[in-house]
Amino acid sequence: MRVRILVLMLGMVLVLVGGRPAFARTPEDGFITARKVDARYFAIHLAAGVEEMALVQGLGVGPEHKILAGQLVGSPQFSSNSLADILDAFFLWSCNVLDMQLYSYRGTVKVVADENALADIYRRLFGEERTGEKAFYVYEINTLYVAAPNFTKEIVGHEVAHAIISNFFVVQPPAKVQEVLAGYIEYQLRKTPSSF
Ligand SMILES: [Zn+2]
Repeated sequence: MRVRILVLMLGMVLVLVGGRPAFARTPEDGFITARKVDARYFAIHLAAGVEEMALVQGLGVGPEHKILAGQLVGSPQFSSNSLADILDAFFLWSCNVLDMQLYSYRGTVKVVADENALADIYRRLFGEERTGEKAFYVYEINTLYVAAPNFTKEIVGHEVAHAIISNFFVVQPPAKVQEVLAGYIEYQLRKTPSSF
């Protein structure tokens, strides 16, 4: 009787913790790379029709963002317009805020044209319909997917945080814990520019 209750409880915990179905094998996401940009911490793949400058504008990160100052090439002010530089700075800043240092991390960022294309990728990867998703990170293939119209500092920062959290812990924390931590990074980025 006791064992049955334990098994039942364990099952419930797994249901609560489990987010996405696990992969039986490495899946094919169907993404077609039109352009690749190499950052230090990410290989950034852009689908056809996705422009680097439009993504940079969408992030809306400028010299006033003090968090990024001094993170790269020792510059007192962050003034790069390069997508690679900005994502690297996001990564370093998020690592510092979370106090999770990843010294040899390198992941993949794939940017699709819109949410429909993102839903296509989700279906290919997980065999499930999930519409309205703005972005998601897949730990098993260490890849962050974003739809170009959602390429904002809050959404990208949230997913970068997922990448850091997933790769920092040997045993994956429960999904809800990961969401709280990623949400904290998102919150910090959402605050007024001058405060970070
Ligand atoms: Zn999340």
